[in-house]
This record gives sequence, structure tokens and C-alpha cells, in this order.
Amino acid sequence: MITVEHLSKKFGNLVVLKDVNIEIREGEVISIIGPSGTGKSTLLRCINLLERPSGGSILIDGVDILDAKTDVPKIRQKMNMVFQSFNLFAHLSVISNLTIAPIKLLGKSKKEAEEKAMEILTLVGLAEKADNFPDELSGGQKQRVAIARCLAMDPEIILFDEPTSSLDPTMVSEVLSVIRRLAKDGMTMVIVTHEMDFARDLSNRVLYMDEGVIYEEGTPAQIFDNPQREKTRAFINRIRSINYHITSPRYDPHTISAEIEAFCEKQILPLKTRQNLLVIVNELLRIYTPLLSTTTLDMTVAYSEKKESVQVVLESGGEALNPLDKTLLPDDQAKSPVWSMMQGIEYQRVNSKNRVTLMLH
Ligand code: ADP
Ligand code: MG
Repeated sequence: MITVEHLSKKFGNLVVLKDVNIEIREGEVISIIGPSGTGKSTLLRCINLLERPSGGSILIDGVDILDAKTDVPKIRQKMNMVFQSFNLFAHLSVISNLTIAPIKLLGKSKKEAEEKAMEILTLVGLAEKADNFPDELSGGQKQRVAIARCLAMDPEIILFDEPTSSLDPTMVSEVLSVIRRLAKDGMTMVIVTHEMDFARDLSNRVLYMDEGVIYEEGTPAQIFDNPQREKTRAFINRIRSINYHITSPRYDPHTISAEIEAFCEKQILPLKTRQNLLVIVNELLRIYTPLLSTTTLDMTVAYSEKKESVQVVLESGGEALNPLDKTLLPDDQAKSPVWSMMQGIEYQRVNSKNRVTLMLH
């Protein structure tokens, strides 16, 4: 139904979309997830021709809508968008918000447009509010009117840009419930959302967007339970991390401690976890310091919100051996109480590096 090929978009020197490729089939519900600022809104706005793409093509039923000869208003009727901020006409009643475009753009009679509008308002649960004005409605009701206004144009596809993210939490579900209903009725939809549970149980496919591309895509089970690529995993598991690249034995341990402490505070980790982590990091650095005259160390401390766990990954060069092998360590280090604070210590040889992974106990 819609094929996006090599789509790119620049704002001046800022490359927002690099090379986006998407195939949307009729009746599909596609969720787009990803960190903010990665171009999700820009992508929807390009598909809907609210922004002019810098390159690539968008084919709708085989017609390239970027072609100068294409009848843009006609294409817009097939495709409608729901925004985070509702964008209702404040000076028009609810029912007029729904009828204005069908009358002006589709040439419907007022009566015909109003009958259809009432039907749709009933569907979204707002028939009673037909004569109210937008500012008399709650956020959830406004967004349902915005969805109804889309439906009044009889679109073949609806694009949603974070439809619930400006809503009070108590109103999220009434809007999601309307979108669910549309999915059930077979409406083709592309939904940019931060509601992960919703994306998981509603979509046929989930696209994870990062770095101006569709970085990974799959079924909800693939993306949410078994993401393959690093950034997807970090996003799904809400992993936050700090990384140190240490290149000499004269590194500054105080700065590292202070930064790790600040990191823990930012992630709101319990005091005990913070204290243990600092003890562990100090001890690990003490073990690695002798190696640093001949090799380098990459140390990553990562916190997974979903798993509520802290992981430390150490990667050092040199010949293949486990730097935490107790039999190779001096007695005081091998017998340190710090070992009891760590669990799941794992050694792997990866890319000519010695990688040790461990978790806080
Ligand atoms: P997302 O929806 O994923 O948060 P956006 O598509 O809104 O991301 O924005 C992606 C990037 O493009 C951001 O860095 C944003 O500042 C920039 N951007 C978006 N719209 C414009 C614009 N009209 N002019 C300049 N920069 C823009
Ligand atoms: Mg956005």
C-alpha cells in the first residue's frame, strides 16, 4: 500500500533521516519506537507531505507522491494524521471540526457530513459532545475528537504521532481504546508511541528507529523479547551506562568514583548498591592497574531499569587470559571480600580482547 524507499531528510546541515525503507501493507498496524530526536515525527511528516523529503521516494498504491505531477490534496485524503497536541480548530464546535473538511474538500453536503460525523462521534464515545467546543473537553476527549476528525475523511491509513504523550495518565487508556477499536476494524495505521505494552499487543510489526534509519524491525515478540542489535536492546531494557577508556596506569581514580556516584544518583539507585558498586570498581581497577602499562581497559557500568540490575563490563587487550582468574592474582586480591558482592562473573575472549562481565550482588 505504501512503500518508502531510501527516504532522507535534512534540515540545513542536520541529517535527520538517512535512508529509511518501509513497506506498509493494507490492514497492518505498525508501531515506531525509539529515543526522542531520532526523526520519528519527521518521518511521519514526510510520509504525510507536511515536510518535503530531501531524497528517496514514497509510493502509494504504486504512485510516487513526491512526483511534481501528483495531486497532493487527493493523496492527503487517503492519509490522515493525529498529532500529539490534537490540533483541533478551537473556534469550531466538535461536530464542525469533523464536517469542515468533508464539506470543503470532498464536496459533501452539510447534512451528509453531519450524519457521518455523528456516526463517528458515537464510535469514539463522544456523541454527547457534538455541540461543545474543544476547550470544554478534557485532553483525552480532545484527542478522541482529533481521531474522529481523521475518520471523517474516510482515510485509508492513519498516522499517529505519539497520540497519548501529552495526556494526563488517567486519560491515556480511553484514547488507546479507540485506537484498538480501529485496529480491530482493520484500519491501516502507523503509530509512533512510547506506550510499549500497547505497541506490543496491538502491532503486527514494530520498527525501532535510531540514527535516522530503521535500525531494527520485527514482530513485537522479536523486538521486545529478543532484540538483536545493541541499541535496540539498550532501549528496550532501558539500559543507561557510562563508559571509561583507560589507557595508562596514571588514570584518575577519583574522577571515576565521583562520576560513577553521580551516575548512580541519577538512576536513583539505593545507597547500598552505590556503595557496593564503588567498592567493586575500586577493587577491579586495582586488579587491572598493573596491566595498564602494556594494554588498555574499557570499563562500562550499565544499569538496566527493566531488570533493576547493575552490570560491569571490562575489556582489556593482551594475551588470552581472564584477568580475574584468582589463581593468577596476589593473595590479598584473591581473598578480598569484594568477590562476595559480585555474581555471574563471566569471561569471554571477544575480538582479541579479554572481556569480563559481572553483576552486582
Ligand atoms: P522524534 O520525533 O524522533 O523525537 P523529530 O523528528 O521531532 O524526532 O526530530 C528529529 C531531529 O530533527 C531533531 O534534532 C529536531 O531538532 C530536528 N528537527 C525537526 N524538525 C525540524 C525543523 N523543522 N527544522 C530544523 N530541525 C528540525
Ligand atoms: Mg516526535
